Amino acid sequence: MKRRLLDRLLLPARVHTVEQRAPRLRHITLTGPALAGLAWQPGQHVRLQVSAAPGAVDWLIGTLRTYSVWDYDGENLELIVYDHGDSSGPGAEWARTARSGDELRLLKPEGDFTTAPADYHLFAGEETAQVAYGAMLRALPAGARVFGRLEVDSPDERLDLGQDRNQDWDLAWSYRRGRPADSALTLVDAVRALDLPADPGIAYLAGEARTIQLVRRHLVEDRHWPRRSVRTKPFWTPGKKGLD
Ligand SMILES: Cc1cc2nc3c(=O)[nH]c(=O)nc-3n(C[C@H](O)[C@H](O)[C@H](O)COP(=O)(O)OP(=O)(O)OC[C@H]3O[C@@H](n4cnc5c(N)ncnc54)[C@H](O)[C@@H]3O)c2cc1C
Repeated sequence: MKRRLLDRLLLPARVHTVEQRAPRLRHITLTGPALAGLAWQPGQHVRLQVSAAPGAVDWLIGTLRTYSVWDYDGENLELIVYDHGDSSGPGAEWARTARSGDELRLLKPEGDFTTAPADYHLFAGEETAQVAYGAMLRALPAGARVFGRLEVDSPDERLDLGQDRNQDWDLAWSYRRGRPADSALTLVDAVRALDLPADPGIAYLAGEARTIQLVRRHLVEDRHWPRRSVRTKPFWTPGKKGLD
Protein backbone atom coordinates (compact mmCIF):
# COMPACT_ATOMS: atom_id res chain seq x y z
CA MET A 1 0.00 0.00 0.00
CA LYS A 2 2.81 2.37 0.90
CA ARG A 3 4.36 1.92 -2.54
CA ARG A 4 1.08 2.69 -4.34
CA LEU A 5 0.55 5.81 -2.25
CA LEU A 6 4.13 6.93 -2.86
CA ASP A 7 3.73 6.48 -6.63
CA ARG A 8 0.80 8.91 -6.54
CA LEU A 9 2.70 11.50 -4.53
CA LEU A 10 6.28 11.27 -5.70
CA LEU A 11 7.92 10.67 -9.07
CA PRO A 12 10.26 7.67 -9.25
CA ALA A 13 13.68 8.46 -10.73
CA ARG A 14 17.24 7.14 -10.74
CA VAL A 15 20.64 8.73 -10.56
CA HIS A 16 22.06 8.85 -14.08
CA THR A 17 25.48 10.44 -13.50
CA VAL A 18 27.44 11.96 -10.62
CA GLU A 19 30.23 14.39 -11.30
CA GLN A 20 32.45 16.08 -8.71
CA ARG A 21 32.42 19.70 -9.90
CA ALA A 22 34.55 21.02 -7.04
CA PRO A 23 35.78 19.50 -3.78
CA ARG A 24 32.42 20.24 -2.16
CA LEU A 25 30.04 20.45 -5.13
CA ARG A 26 28.50 17.35 -6.70
CA HIS A 27 26.61 17.60 -9.98
CA ILE A 28 23.94 14.89 -9.95
CA THR A 29 21.78 14.12 -12.99
CA LEU A 30 18.49 12.30 -12.42
CA THR A 31 16.60 10.46 -15.12
CA GLY A 32 13.71 8.05 -15.69
CA PRO A 33 10.41 7.92 -17.62
CA ALA A 34 8.54 9.89 -14.93
CA LEU A 35 10.88 12.86 -15.44
CA ALA A 36 9.95 13.29 -19.12
CA GLY A 37 8.05 16.43 -20.11
CA LEU A 38 7.83 18.11 -16.71
CA ALA A 39 6.95 21.81 -16.52
CA TRP A 40 9.96 23.72 -15.16
CA GLN A 41 10.89 27.38 -14.91
CA PRO A 42 14.53 28.34 -14.24
CA GLY A 43 14.89 29.14 -10.53
CA GLN A 44 12.42 26.45 -9.47
CA HIS A 45 13.42 23.56 -7.24
CA VAL A 46 12.54 19.91 -6.59
CA ARG A 47 12.10 18.13 -3.26
CA LEU A 48 13.85 14.77 -3.01
CA GLN A 49 13.36 11.87 -0.68
CA VAL A 50 16.95 11.69 0.55
CA SER A 51 16.38 9.02 3.19
CA ALA A 52 13.71 7.00 4.94
CA ALA A 53 12.51 8.40 8.24
CA PRO A 54 11.31 6.42 11.23
CA GLY A 55 8.78 8.92 12.64
CA ALA A 56 5.05 8.39 12.05
CA VAL A 57 4.68 11.64 10.14
CA ASP A 58 7.52 10.72 7.84
CA TRP A 59 6.43 7.11 7.35
CA LEU A 60 5.06 7.85 3.90
CA ILE A 61 7.25 10.59 2.55
CA GLY A 62 10.57 10.00 4.30
CA THR A 63 13.03 12.83 4.71
CA LEU A 64 12.79 15.47 2.01
CA ARG A 65 15.42 18.02 1.03
CA THR A 66 15.05 20.77 -1.55
CA TYR A 67 17.42 21.45 -4.48
CA SER A 68 17.34 24.03 -7.24
CA VAL A 69 17.29 22.63 -10.75
CA TRP A 70 20.55 23.58 -12.46
CA ASP A 71 19.21 22.43 -15.83
CA TYR A 72 16.44 20.30 -17.35
CA ASP A 73 16.36 19.14 -20.98
CA GLY A 74 12.88 17.62 -20.88
CA GLU A 75 14.23 14.22 -19.74
CA ASN A 76 17.19 14.64 -17.41
CA LEU A 77 17.10 16.85 -14.36
CA GLU A 78 20.40 18.27 -13.08
CA LEU A 79 21.15 19.31 -9.51
CA ILE A 80 24.30 20.63 -7.85
CA VAL A 81 24.58 19.86 -4.15
CA TYR A 82 26.97 21.52 -1.73
CA ASP A 83 28.57 19.32 0.94
CA HIS A 84 28.50 21.51 4.02
CA GLY A 85 30.72 19.34 6.21
CA ASP A 86 31.36 16.33 8.38
CA SER A 87 28.35 16.78 10.64
CA SER A 88 26.10 17.44 7.65
CA GLY A 89 22.51 16.26 7.46
CA PRO A 90 20.73 13.73 5.25
CA GLY A 91 20.73 15.92 2.12
CA ALA A 92 24.49 16.35 2.01
CA GLU A 93 24.92 12.70 2.97
CA TRP A 94 22.68 11.61 0.09
CA ALA A 95 24.69 13.67 -2.39
CA ARG A 96 28.02 12.46 -1.01
CA THR A 97 27.06 8.80 -1.42
CA ALA A 98 24.87 8.98 -4.58
CA ARG A 99 25.91 6.52 -7.29
CA SER A 100 24.73 5.99 -10.85
CA GLY A 101 21.71 3.64 -10.77
CA ASP A 102 20.51 4.61 -7.27
CA GLU A 103 16.72 4.93 -7.12
CA LEU A 104 14.89 7.77 -5.42
CA ARG A 105 11.63 9.71 -5.46
CA LEU A 106 10.92 13.39 -5.84
CA LEU A 107 8.19 15.97 -6.16
CA LYS A 108 7.70 17.89 -9.42
CA PRO A 109 9.53 21.21 -9.92
CA GLU A 110 7.86 24.04 -8.02
CA GLY A 111 8.46 27.51 -6.64
CA ASP A 112 8.12 31.18 -7.58
CA PHE A 113 11.78 32.21 -7.26
CA THR A 114 12.03 32.98 -10.98
CA THR A 115 13.14 35.96 -13.06
CA ALA A 116 10.83 38.81 -14.03
CA PRO A 117 11.21 41.53 -16.68
CA ALA A 118 13.30 44.44 -15.36
CA ASP A 119 15.73 47.14 -16.52
CA TYR A 120 18.45 45.17 -14.80
CA HIS A 121 18.89 42.10 -12.61
CA LEU A 122 20.93 41.85 -9.42
CA PHE A 123 22.01 38.48 -7.96
CA ALA A 124 23.74 37.92 -4.62
CA GLY A 125 24.48 34.74 -2.69
CA GLU A 126 26.82 31.85 -1.93
CA GLU A 127 27.59 28.30 -3.13
CA THR A 128 24.00 27.03 -2.94
CA ALA A 129 22.41 30.16 -4.42
CA GLN A 130 24.60 30.07 -7.52
CA VAL A 131 22.86 26.82 -8.60
CA ALA A 132 19.51 28.59 -8.97
CA TYR A 133 21.25 31.65 -10.47
CA GLY A 134 22.93 29.58 -13.21
CA ALA A 135 19.54 28.49 -14.51
CA MET A 136 17.98 31.96 -14.07
CA LEU A 137 20.84 33.73 -15.86
CA ARG A 138 20.67 31.35 -18.83
CA ALA A 139 16.97 32.17 -19.14
CA LEU A 140 17.37 35.96 -19.33
CA PRO A 141 16.77 37.54 -22.74
CA ALA A 142 19.85 38.41 -24.83
CA GLY A 143 21.18 41.82 -23.86
CA ALA A 144 19.76 41.71 -20.32
CA ARG A 145 21.72 43.89 -17.92
CA VAL A 146 23.17 41.84 -15.05
CA PHE A 147 24.96 42.64 -11.79
CA GLY A 148 26.00 39.93 -9.36
CA ARG A 149 28.12 39.41 -6.29
CA LEU A 150 28.81 35.80 -5.27
CA GLU A 151 30.75 34.63 -2.27
CA VAL A 152 32.20 31.09 -2.15
CA ASP A 153 34.91 29.57 -0.05
CA SER A 154 37.54 29.29 -2.77
CA PRO A 155 37.81 29.88 -6.54
CA ASP A 156 37.28 26.11 -7.17
CA GLU A 157 33.70 26.49 -6.02
CA ARG A 158 32.62 29.00 -8.65
CA LEU A 159 30.06 27.60 -11.06
CA ASP A 160 29.96 28.65 -14.71
CA LEU A 161 27.20 31.25 -14.64
CA GLY A 162 27.82 32.36 -18.23
CA GLN A 163 30.04 35.34 -17.41
CA ASP A 164 32.64 34.37 -20.06
CA ARG A 165 29.98 34.49 -22.79
CA ASN A 166 28.50 37.75 -21.48
CA GLN A 167 31.44 40.07 -20.99
CA ASP A 168 29.17 43.04 -20.28
CA TRP A 169 27.72 41.44 -17.14
CA ASP A 170 29.14 42.84 -13.91
CA LEU A 171 29.46 39.50 -12.11
CA ALA A 172 32.21 38.97 -9.53
CA TRP A 173 33.14 36.48 -6.83
CA SER A 174 34.81 36.92 -3.47
CA TYR A 175 36.26 34.17 -1.27
CA ARG A 176 35.60 33.37 2.38
CA ARG A 177 38.75 31.24 2.84
CA GLY A 178 37.33 29.27 5.78
CA ARG A 179 35.05 31.93 7.23
CA PRO A 180 31.45 30.75 7.78
CA ALA A 181 28.85 31.64 5.14
CA ASP A 182 26.11 32.78 7.54
CA SER A 183 25.48 36.49 8.27
CA ALA A 184 28.08 37.29 5.61
CA LEU A 185 28.75 41.00 6.03
CA THR A 186 31.44 40.72 3.37
CA LEU A 187 28.76 39.86 0.81
CA VAL A 188 26.62 42.79 1.98
CA ASP A 189 29.65 45.06 1.57
CA ALA A 190 30.28 43.70 -1.92
CA VAL A 191 26.69 44.58 -2.90
CA ARG A 192 27.01 47.95 -1.17
CA ALA A 193 30.07 48.74 -3.29
CA LEU A 194 28.23 48.07 -6.56
CA ASP A 195 27.76 51.04 -8.85
CA LEU A 196 24.11 50.42 -9.71
CA PRO A 197 21.84 52.59 -11.89
CA ALA A 198 19.85 55.20 -9.92
CA ASP A 199 16.51 53.44 -10.41
CA PRO A 200 15.86 50.02 -8.86
CA GLY A 201 16.03 46.87 -10.96
CA ILE A 202 15.03 43.52 -9.56
CA ALA A 203 17.14 41.64 -7.01
CA TYR A 204 17.29 37.89 -6.42
CA LEU A 205 18.64 36.87 -3.03
CA ALA A 206 18.98 33.17 -2.17
CA GLY A 207 21.13 31.04 0.13
CA GLU A 208 21.75 31.63 3.83
CA ALA A 209 18.71 33.26 5.47
CA ARG A 210 20.45 35.87 7.67
CA THR A 211 22.70 37.04 4.87
CA ILE A 212 19.66 37.45 2.65
CA GLN A 213 18.00 39.62 5.31
CA LEU A 214 21.11 41.81 5.55
CA VAL A 215 21.39 42.31 1.79
CA ARG A 216 17.66 42.98 1.54
CA ARG A 217 17.85 45.54 4.33
CA HIS A 218 20.69 47.31 2.52
CA LEU A 219 18.69 47.49 -0.73
CA VAL A 220 15.45 48.65 0.93
CA GLU A 221 16.83 50.98 3.63
CA ASP A 222 20.03 52.36 2.09
CA ARG A 223 19.19 52.29 -1.62
CA HIS A 224 15.41 52.82 -1.12
CA TRP A 225 14.36 49.94 -3.34
CA PRO A 226 10.67 48.95 -3.03
CA ARG A 227 10.30 45.64 -1.18
CA ARG A 228 8.52 44.14 -4.18
CA SER A 229 11.73 44.61 -6.24
CA VAL A 230 13.64 42.22 -3.98
CA ARG A 231 12.86 38.51 -4.42
CA THR A 232 14.18 36.31 -1.62
CA LYS A 233 14.46 32.55 -1.10
CA PRO A 234 16.18 31.31 2.08
CA PHE A 235 17.83 27.95 1.46
CA TRP A 236 19.39 27.21 4.88
CA THR A 237 20.50 28.78 8.13
CA PRO A 238 22.59 27.52 11.06
CA GLY A 239 20.71 25.23 13.43
CA LYS A 240 17.62 24.72 11.23
CA LYS A 241 17.02 21.53 9.29
CA GLY A 242 15.57 21.25 5.82
CA LEU A 243 14.25 24.80 5.26
CA ASP A 244 11.20 24.98 2.95
C1 LIG B 1 14.37 26.41 -2.48
C2 LIG B 1 15.67 25.76 -2.02
C3 LIG B 1 16.64 25.47 -2.97
C4 LIG B 1 17.85 24.89 -2.55
N1 LIG B 1 18.79 24.61 -3.51
C5 LIG B 1 19.97 24.05 -3.13
C6 LIG B 1 20.95 23.72 -4.11
O1 LIG B 1 20.75 23.90 -5.32
N2 LIG B 1 22.11 23.15 -3.67
C7 LIG B 1 22.35 22.90 -2.33
O2 LIG B 1 23.43 22.39 -1.99
N3 LIG B 1 21.43 23.22 -1.39
C8 LIG B 1 20.24 23.75 -1.75
N4 LIG B 1 19.29 24.03 -0.81
C9 LIG B 1 19.58 23.64 0.60
C10 LIG B 1 19.19 22.16 0.81
O3 LIG B 1 17.79 22.02 0.72
C11 LIG B 1 19.57 21.63 2.20
O4 LIG B 1 19.15 22.54 3.17
C12 LIG B 1 21.03 21.41 2.37
O5 LIG B 1 21.50 20.45 1.42
C13 LIG B 1 21.32 20.88 3.78
O6 LIG B 1 20.59 19.69 3.99
P1 LIG B 1 21.11 18.61 4.99
O7 LIG B 1 20.06 17.54 5.11
O8 LIG B 1 22.51 18.18 4.61
O9 LIG B 1 21.25 19.40 6.34
P2 LIG B 1 20.07 19.79 7.38
O10 LIG B 1 19.69 18.62 8.21
O11 LIG B 1 18.95 20.44 6.60
O12 LIG B 1 20.80 20.89 8.23
C14 LIG B 1 21.73 20.58 9.23
C15 LIG B 1 22.58 21.78 9.54
O13 LIG B 1 23.60 21.91 8.56
C16 LIG B 1 23.98 23.27 8.41
N5 LIG B 1 23.94 23.62 6.97
C17 LIG B 1 22.97 23.31 6.07
N6 LIG B 1 23.30 23.79 4.84
C18 LIG B 1 24.49 24.42 4.99
C19 LIG B 1 25.36 25.12 4.10
N7 LIG B 1 25.06 25.29 2.79
N8 LIG B 1 26.51 25.63 4.60
C20 LIG B 1 26.85 25.48 5.90
N9 LIG B 1 26.07 24.83 6.81
C21 LIG B 1 24.91 24.31 6.35
C22 LIG B 1 22.98 24.08 9.25
O14 LIG B 1 23.58 24.42 10.49
C23 LIG B 1 21.85 23.12 9.51
O15 LIG B 1 21.18 23.35 10.70
C24 LIG B 1 18.09 24.60 -1.18
C25 LIG B 1 17.07 24.88 -0.24
C26 LIG B 1 15.89 25.46 -0.65
C27 LIG B 1 14.83 25.77 0.39
